[in-house]
Amino acid sequence: MSIETEPNSAAVVLPTEQRWERRAVIDLSAIRHNVRRIAELAAPAQIMAVVKADGYGHGALPVAKAALEAGATWLGTAHATEALELRAAGITAPVLAWLHTTDTPFAEAIAANIDLGVSGWDLDHIAAAARTAAQPARVHLKIDTGLGRNGCTPEGWRELLAAAAAYQEEGVLRVVGVFSHLAVADEPERPETDEQLAAFRAAVALAEEAGFGLEVRHTANTPAILSRPDAHFDLVRLGLGMYGLSPFADQTSADLGLRPAMRLVARVANAKRVPAGQGISYGLTYRTAGPTTVALVPLGYADGIPRTAQAAPVLIAGVLRRSSGRVAMDQFVVDMGEDADPADLIGAEAVLFGDGGPAAEAWAASAGTINYEMVTRISGRVPRHYVEGSWGEHGE
Ligand SMILES: *Cc1c(COP(=O)(O)O)cnc(C)c1O
Repeated sequence: MSIETEPNSAAVVLPTEQRWERRAVIDLSAIRHNVRRIAELAAPAQIMAVVKADGYGHGALPVAKAALEAGATWLGTAHATEALELRAAGITAPVLAWLHTTDTPFAEAIAANIDLGVSGWDLDHIAAAARTAAQPARVHLKIDTGLGRNGCTPEGWRELLAAAAAYQEEGVLRVVGVFSHLAVADEPERPETDEQLAAFRAAVALAEEAGFGLEVRHTANTPAILSRPDAHFDLVRLGLGMYGLSPFADQTSADLGLRPAMRLVARVANAKRVPAGQGISYGLTYRTAGPTTVALVPLGYADGIPRTAQAAPVLIAGVLRRSSGRVAMDQFVVDMGEDADPADLIGAEAVLFGDGGPAAEAWAASAGTINYEMVTRISGRVPRHYVEGSWGEHGE
């Protein structure tokens, strides 16, 4: 006897090949669509597909491959170790990594043809590693035009250029790029982006005067790609938009012609009738207003669902409801209302966000965070499932 053929309740039981408990469904055709859509806006600038943080939670390798197929010519990661993982998987496209520590495996990165961002102290370390690797490093000098994070200050820029020129003369490295990062491009009305772009142009001009044959100048992230054509230069660094999400508070993915690539779903684990006044989840912060049916969704903060989320939207068996009470480590509860029949809910699909369900932005709002964090924080405990086409997972 097998449970596939002998369900002992009214619960929805699917054939083996359609079985899954919880998963993040990643639509690679949406990734390709988004890259093509943004490449049109950015042309003639090239596209660097930013796949740091495991591709914002979507899977760095499948996203990188899809982005390259769709016309991206560069890949970007924060850490050199992330770039090395792409190389280990056979990716040969240009890759830039820009966030280093004194323990970054620079020699390995140089030997793997990974371009390295340089903010200051790292120049000497990279030059030393290039000697070890017996191969010139390809570096992109980073100017801090106002974000106050990484990058060289404008005051230190001439000195960095001179030091880099000396190393280039010696043959241990080549300066192939100058770049910066913007602080408020998601708020297009703010004046600081103009100031940052002016500082960037000045820094690029000094680098060109210093005689570097720059291949690429780049400073645009997704919000700047979409709102500041004057920030495109030779290359744009595309993260959020490639995943189909909007960086703007007042524009949706659809407004921008983008398709969210991640759909987070789980099977309802339990459903039951409860009386009025039933407390729900730790702290009993939610009590049922009347007799009702509650559904248990098997995703919790260990899966990356924010514990701070309150009354977050969930589409269950086609009905839009809200999370009720606290998110726990493995699960949360949804009050489905008096008319819901538990038998219809057990095993039914709960869509937290993504195609056909609530937007990731709605979950972010319910948890006091942003869409970037919502998708990126979905943990390795949730299996990723790759499909082609928005409804590719249905009826498989
Ligand atoms: C993450 C990151 C990006 C991508 O930003 P999005 O807003 O997601 O497009 C670009 N550049 C740098 C330096 C980054 O760290």
